[in-house]
Amino acid sequence: MANSPEDLAALLAGARHAVVLTGAGVSTESGIPDFRSPGGIWERVDPMEIGSISTFLSNPDRFWGFHRPRFAAVDSVEPNAAHLAIAELERRGIVKALITQNIDGLHRRAGSTDPIEVHGTLDFGECLRCGARISRDEMLARADDADDGVPRCTQCGFQIKSGVVLFGEQLPADSISRAFAAADAADVMLVVGSSLLVTPVSTLPDMVLGHGGTLAILTESETPYDADCTVRLHGKAGVQMSEVIAALDEIADRPG
Ligand SMILES: [Zn+2]
Repeated sequence: MANSPEDLAALLAGARHAVVLTGAGVSTESGIPDFRSPGGIWERVDPMEIGSISTFLSNPDRFWGFHRPRFAAVDSVEPNAAHLAIAELERRGIVKALITQNIDGLHRRAGSTDPIEVHGTLDFGECLRCGARISRDEMLARADDADDGVPRCTQCGFQIKSGVVLFGEQLPADSISRAFAAADAADVMLVVGSSLLVTPVSTLPDMVLGHGGTLAILTESETPYDADCTVRLHGKAGVQMSEVIAALDEIADRPG
């Protein structure tokens, strides 16, 4: 199996419709904790409780008391070299779609134009009762102004939820169908920083392989698809992806 950044660069250079799929491993290099990893926050707090739609509905002040600081944590970090390299691949016309499990908005900040955010996003708030949508800044301002820390809808008074999908909630249907369409069109899928254990993204590589596409994986941990991929990289995503861009530059500069 090929396992160097140069191998990945060659695969991408020959791709007709490359699609990138990213998970928490990309964001951890910016300093955002992976909630599922050992030592992660979910070992100290029950995710099914604090991250659930039922807590949001029944105990909104507890929900927002936990979640409000997480917004500040995301604001204090920057996109890393992996985010920037993936945006660069899109600028060069190599990557046609980006699917991400991450909710932090770092791909957008790095320059990716329209990431498919299958677990939602922190970037807006919405009222579950009347459907009113507000900007993230407005949502946080209302949270900070409220006595109980809960942002509320000005139309109907119900509490505002961020655009992040909670436990017990449906995934956003439009994002899921876009993700499946992207996998369907992909001749190459590059997975970065996801261990491919969480549905629905865990099914996307199967779709790509099923129609004869090629899989490349850059993730520290093992994945169920390690035996099926054409290129398998380990190590830091930022370092490896920077080397992929450098190798693509060399391919482009090669005479003939
Ligand atoms: Zn409302």
